[in-house]
Amino acid sequence: MTKFSYSSSAAWLERAKKVLAAGVSSEFRKYNHPHALFYTHGKGSKIYDVDGNEYLDFTLSQGPLILGHSHPEVLEAVHQESLQGQLYAGQHAKEIELAEKLQAIIPAAELMRFCLDGSEAVQTALRVARAKTGKQKFLRFEGHYHGWLDNVCFGISSPSPEAMGPRESPQMHPWTQGLPDGAKEESFLLPWNDLDLVKQHVAKHHQEMAAIITEPVMCNNGCIPPKEGFLQGLRALCSDYGIALIFDEVITGFRLGLGGAQAFFGVKPDMAVFAKAIGSGYPISAIVGKKEWMEEISTARVIHAGTMNTGNPTVAAALATISILERENPYPAMFALGERLRQGLRKIAKETGHQLLVSGIGPVVHTGFTSQEKAVDFRDVLQFDTTKLKTFVSRLHDRGLRVIGRGLWYISAVHTEEEIDQALGLAREVLTAQDI
Ligand code: PLP
Repeated sequence: MTKFSYSSSAAWLERAKKVLAAGVSSEFRKYNHPHALFYTHGKGSKIYDVDGNEYLDFTLSQGPLILGHSHPEVLEAVHQESLQGQLYAGQHAKEIELAEKLQAIIPAAELMRFCLDGSEAVQTALRVARAKTGKQKFLRFEGHYHGWLDNVCFGISSPSPEAMGPRESPQMHPWTQGLPDGAKEESFLLPWNDLDLVKQHVAKHHQEMAAIITEPVMCNNGCIPPKEGFLQGLRALCSDYGIALIFDEVITGFRLGLGGAQAFFGVKPDMAVFAKAIGSGYPISAIVGKKEWMEEISTARVIHAGTMNTGNPTVAAALATISILERENPYPAMFALGERLRQGLRKIAKETGHQLLVSGIGPVVHTGFTSQEKAVDFRDVLQFDTTKLKTFVSRLHDRGLRVIGRGLWYISAVHTEEEIDQALGLAREVLTAQDI
């Protein structure tokens, strides 16, 4: 094995630190191996860094690149549309085409608005929920990431598993300094996948509760699917108590199928937010919902705005992405590759004597080192051996395979069986070493 060199990236990082805080433009980019790296280009399933290293990429840029890097049809659509203009401070036909497409394929998308990223789409949905219900607080779940804005920065980190507090009243550890005093008071927090606990909590607090927000699959920690009946149970509770059910489909959207997790599981939320894969890496997100909820925006009771919303290139990218997904239906193949990777990793772990829990759903795969046979919530995920995971991920990286540091692997429409087998070969090499 040739050891990868990262010296050019290291030099760029030193230079970057003089102008960018910590040398990066997003917190998560700090956690590359062995430090923040600098890239030159991406093509298909591969990405290349300034040291000339080539990686088989399973990060898909944290999810957006469902068609891989630089899909020619997306690039051509962006180019052609950019020639017409970039942003009009007014409407254009293509965004209506896009909205009509989403309305046709996403069950809850009766009305929608577009914005730029997942974080702001989440906040819009919460604002709508407050306006319609006249209630203030929302319930969310430990380990679910809903963006980096103030009121959702709790319950996604913990100094230790023990510090999580009792299940009925978890500690709300802040993820960052600088939060306003009131941010914590906006939400209730509970462990995920425990319907009885949610029922008890809702019965007690429904008069204050405007919304329940959930990732339909806990993709951000352990990639844990909902227990049988959990999403249906949330649906029933929200309907009974006049609470908005919001699905955060920023990861599951266009990944579990064109209709997202709501179509996959057959549970229709009141509102949902989509981002990442909708635009193949161009900044676009959508808040969609049932008419009765989204009308809060139509009637101007709720303001939603944004200078940069629905620029020509981003809408063109989204239209092209969805057209390709519709035409080529890569989902059966992506799901099969996900299963091939999961089964392969399980077999290798067994043969090499590692306690590796391989989970996930469809084209999202998660690897965590633990003796647990199953993880159902964030508290289980906090028991995973992060030191060993770091060694595993770093050694894969040093062999030209890039996965997200917390053990998450995304499969795109352009990955192949051969590439999955290549990844499995590298995983075997790493797990066979004596010192892991
Ligand atoms: N919701 C989920 C489930 C996410 O995974 C993310 C980002 O990773 C967000 C919201 C925030 O999206 P963005 O980073 O586009 O603001």
